[in-house]
Amino acid sequence: MDIFYRSTRGNERKVTASEAILQGLAVDGGLFVPEQIPAFDKTMKEFSEMSYQETAYEVMKLLLTDFTEDELKSCIRNAYDEKFDTETIAPLAEAEDAYFLELFHGKTIAFKDMALSILPHLMTTAAKKNQVKNEIVILTATSGDTGKAALAGFADVKGTRILVFYPKNGVSPIQERQMVTQKGANTRVVGIYGNFDDAQSGVKKLFADQELAERMQAKGYQFSSANSINIGRLVPQIVYYVYAYAQLLKEERIAENEFINVVVPTGNFGNILAAFYAKNMGLPIRKLICASNDNKVLYDFFRTGEYDRNREFVLTTSPSMDILISSNLERLIYRIAGNDAQKNAELMKSLNGEGRYEITEEMKAQLSDFYGNFATEEECAAKIKSLYEDTGYVIDTHTAVAAVVHDKYRADTEDGTKTVIASTASPYKFTRSVMTAIDGKYDEMDDFALVDELSRISNVRIPGAIEEIRTAPVVHDIQCDKTQMKEAVEAFLNL
Ligand SMILES: *Cc1c(COP(=O)(O)O)cnc(C)c1O
Repeated sequence: MDIFYRSTRGNERKVTASEAILQGLAVDGGLFVPEQIPAFDKTMKEFSEMSYQETAYEVMKLLLTDFTEDELKSCIRNAYDEKFDTETIAPLAEAEDAYFLELFHGKTIAFKDMALSILPHLMTTAAKKNQVKNEIVILTATSGDTGKAALAGFADVKGTRILVFYPKNGVSPIQERQMVTQKGANTRVVGIYGNFDDAQSGVKKLFADQELAERMQAKGYQFSSANSINIGRLVPQIVYYVYAYAQLLKEERIAENEFINVVVPTGNFGNILAAFYAKNMGLPIRKLICASNDNKVLYDFFRTGEYDRNREFVLTTSPSMDILISSNLERLIYRIAGNDAQKNAELMKSLNGEGRYEITEEMKAQLSDFYGNFATEEECAAKIKSLYEDTGYVIDTHTAVAAVVHDKYRADTEDGTKTVIASTASPYKFTRSVMTAIDGKYDEMDDFALVDELSRISNVRIPGAIEEIRTAPVVHDIQCDKTQMKEAVEAFLNL
């Protein structure tokens, strides 16, 4: 079955998967969604005998139908290799009453690597398939982790350039250092004076700027997006949910056809949407548990049916989730509106204008697969500490949000379904917050001393990604106001 993609905002021309990946965002500002969600053509039992790479092929082939078997397998081979520090790519760790799906074994030690290791390969393959001669310019707004993962993925990839905007005062010291030390002649990193939503809105505006697009075209450039709005990111993220389920089955921790719950620490709604797609493709998931930090827009949305971004933006110790506009939610809205692009476009217009929208009761009734809750800073710190003290297992601040919400869900519902918690970053990426949660005395140590101490108390080897930045020189030192992002693009491309 060939799958085509349409924009969530208009019934414009349908496109192939490779076209959707190249374009990133639809021309009308909508997101590409598959016309149908295909069902798995392998059983969970069959999946349980596959490697990560084999699973990736069997899942991705169903949605990226215009890629040939050779093309897709070559992308997968190039993505999921020794860049990951474990052969299983996404291992499960059991601690307390949950399975932590460790999605941080890639190059930049956050779950973004799962998709951004393969996106450059999908994109250059897509360019070839569509006879694109322009250089692809990846424009990315990051709340910290996407930026580095995208830089690492695209650095020195022929036919591409990458420009990353991050909120100058809104990422962790280690996140910032990872980005500003990025090598690669085709890379640039710019800190903006503004928050993540400013960066993301600015990038969306640049994508929609026709005047800029024309000048770029004349010089042989075109934009694409590595943000989680690109379906080339969404599709690879479905894979690890299938893989996790299959591993549990293989190890006889669950029985055939047994349902599991999934908890996802959520920001832009990409990771949990991938789990939702996995469920719709046939993965036995009961509840999709959406965990927010103090920026609890999504919790309020699931509770009331009203999405309202008019509120204070809170900087937390889980910065990759400090988001008030969860872009990928639009794909879910479109779906619960009955794939009605016009209805969705109206709601998104209201979000753009008034900063809020409300869904109908009928739409709300379709959200019963989801449960939303949130975790405060104190709750997260307490969870990191207690989990460490009880089990020796150290989780990062984002994963802690999920673990707290998992506890709240259990207390609320008494649902004892076995649960996979998406563990989205290595504790080494947020060492200071993690260590001070465990013991206040660590506050006085410098970042790299804390790294060594974390290794000592957790018995986990310091990842290469951290060793690298200890000594790497800063190569990007550019800042601009949130209103000057266009000028930053022009300077990068010599327009
Ligand atoms: C990006 C990110 C998230 C949020 O994922 P979304 O797909 O944007 O919801 C959570 N945790 C970490 C560590 C991240 O990098």
